[in-house]
Amino acid sequence: MLYSDLADTFDRLESTSSRLEMTTILADFFRDVDKDELRDIVYLCQGKLHPDFHPQVLGMSDKLVLKAIAKASGYSESEAEEQWLKTGDPGAVAEMFIGGKPSDTGAKKVKQASLFSFGDDADDEKQLTVGDVVAGLVSIENTDGKKSQTGKIDDLVSLLRDSSPVGARYLCRIVTGRMRVGAGDMTILDALAEAFATKEDRPVVERAFNVTCDIGLVAETIATGGMDAVAGIGVQVGNPVKVMLGERLPSIGEVVEKLGGTCAMEYKYDGIRLQAHIKGDKVTLYSRRLEDLTSNFPDVAYALASKCKFEEAIVEGECVAVEPETGFMLPFQVVTHRRKKHGMEQAVKSIPVRMFMFDILYRDGEDMTARPYLERRAELESTFALGEMLQMTTMKVVESTEEGEEFFSNALAARCEGIMAKSVAQESVYRAGSRGFLWIKYKKDYQQALTDSFDLAVVGAFYGMGKRAGKYGALLMAAFDQETGMFQTVCKLGTGFDDAFLDSMPELLNGTLTSTKPRSVETGMEPDVWFDPEVVLEVVAAEITQSPTHTVARDVLEEGTGLGLRFPRFTGRVRDDKTPEQCTTSNEILDMYNMQVHDSDGISDE
Ligand code: AMP
Repeated sequence: MLYSDLADTFDRLESTSSRLEMTTILADFFRDVDKDELRDIVYLCQGKLHPDFHPQVLGMSDKLVLKAIAKASGYSESEAEEQWLKTGDPGAVAEMFIGGKPSDTGAKKVKQASLFSFGDDADDEKQLTVGDVVAGLVSIENTDGKKSQTGKIDDLVSLLRDSSPVGARYLCRIVTGRMRVGAGDMTILDALAEAFATKEDRPVVERAFNVTCDIGLVAETIATGGMDAVAGIGVQVGNPVKVMLGERLPSIGEVVEKLGGTCAMEYKYDGIRLQAHIKGDKVTLYSRRLEDLTSNFPDVAYALASKCKFEEAIVEGECVAVEPETGFMLPFQVVTHRRKKHGMEQAVKSIPVRMFMFDILYRDGEDMTARPYLERRAELESTFALGEMLQMTTMKVVESTEEGEEFFSNALAARCEGIMAKSVAQESVYRAGSRGFLWIKYKKDYQQALTDSFDLAVVGAFYGMGKRAGKYGALLMAAFDQETGMFQTVCKLGTGFDDAFLDSMPELLNGTLTSTKPRSVETGMEPDVWFDPEVVLEVVAAEITQSPTHTVARDVLEEGTGLGLRFPRFTGRVRDDKTPEQCTTSNEILDMYNMQVHDSDGISDE
């Protein structure tokens, strides 16, 4: 396939904000794509070459890309930089300069770029294919060592020289990690179902994605083998599985009742969730964000490999830091010190951890996700020689509110943040990628304040005044709406920042700066600067109220009104273990709002 056809499709996707229309554009396009190219094309739609959990990223800096644009187009670097300062988008600069007509810029070519440059010598232009682009990008990705910068520039230059202006726009966005044409995972899955199956098949397509985290694999499978092949995709070692999550309820009584009067309660540990993929001596530990954290927890990986009684397994647990002398559990902030890149040997010694295991998804060829909870738990327990490092989560099957409350008090006394109640019904399967009522969390925060904390994405900032002059004074925060794939704002956050955090904000956020409002953000506010939703912060608030400016659950309760947080405060926790899509969802905030109304009616709780 010609790369220009793909780039034109990106352009069409970018020019619509309707998810339905995007789905149709993509479905029509996917039908025409060569089956063996579809996998790469699906990754490229998301600006990638690999599935999300793949460690390698293209990540060229804007500076390098500007050099390549100048070299490929024949304009000077300073002119490219000038345009980049105006637009903030190397893609726009590439499009303008490779087109050879930076009309409103006054820029002049300093030399003829190449025999094949698009503008002047369009007749001689080489027809760049998707295969050429993938090969070029792979070369950029794999070029390292001393000459890596010039090597990467040269690779990009040769792609740019053969590309159309629109194609150049997307090449530069891909290599700088700024693709964002709006085709999120859910839109691509919709389009795959529309192109190769039926609407009814959509849940099976999504399940295949949830258990493999590889949208390219799902695309290739559906195109080549149809729905039978997709239904056969199972959990496998090496492909992280999207984690199952729990809902929340406001009292232990409601939790027990919702789960049918009998449920398993486990301590809810305050650590980092790890999904371990074990194959003989090789263990890979994935975070909830699908990052490979094996090098951060070599002690856990070693214990899992050496204590596992089977050849292959996928298990999940919460990794918690403990006090070396007493073994007491320490709060989440302590274990996050293990997430650094250097000095791991020292950190392993000074921050000992324990792995509290709570689920098993696969063992020696058997997908366990469809087995009920108590069976999985028994299998998990028999998979390892347990000890100090590898432990099972503390669990008790409770049959009344009183028993549940006693278990909850024990959890708090053991320094846990609450409990996870889990269904013991026959249908208590492991639902990859879903948040439902098979698991229900209840935390100590629920007793003190009205709600749980919120994990929100930073989408904008307001410049500070007075003591905060010259810094970001407040941030615009958004929740994620799973149905539309949009980030909807819920508060302006200006409290809870200490001086160190205020100083660190530019470093934390400026990599995601963007000159215009990101397409995925919905808000009635106009901050001084916009950010692509990337950084997630934990926020607490006094109350959820209806708001005319914020867009969470807009129009649901009342026309033109959304939900906002009253007195929001940053807790000090940067949730770098969560992707922006794993933020608190708009629906959860709506549920919490309803729960709050319900509470103040005096109906719930004791
Ligand atoms: P939340 O992030 O508040 O939605 O809570 C869900 C998280 O609690 C999971 O992703 C785990 O990291 C953590 N967790 C701690 N203990 C358990 C447990 N016993 N079972 C399941 N998840 C747990």
